[in-house]
Amino acid sequence: MSLLIIFLVMVCVSIYVGTMIIISTNKREGKWGINTDTDKLVCPKCGKKALENRKPYNLQQLLWGGWTCKNCGCVVDKWGKEIRKE
Ligand SMILES: [Zn+2]
Repeated sequence: MSLLIIFLVMVCVSIYVGTMIIISTNKREGKWGINTDTDKLVCPKCGKKALENRKPYNLQQLLWGGWTCKNCGCVVDKWGKEIRKE
């Protein structure tokens, strides 16, 4: 019985995560989406291409994508939008 509950929870989580990825990818924003055309990404501040300096500098960038611009130090998410530090 408990195995069935675990299985059902896993199915629900999978559906939830899958839906989040699809919604986020279509909206081109948020953490869950997958950006497939990363070669078109440029820094929103200086216009430098992301591909050549796309290296994760912190855990957030490692987990969710994004990069820190080598040219101007701008922190950008995987959609090419500037992330403002609080
Ligand atoms: Zn830049």
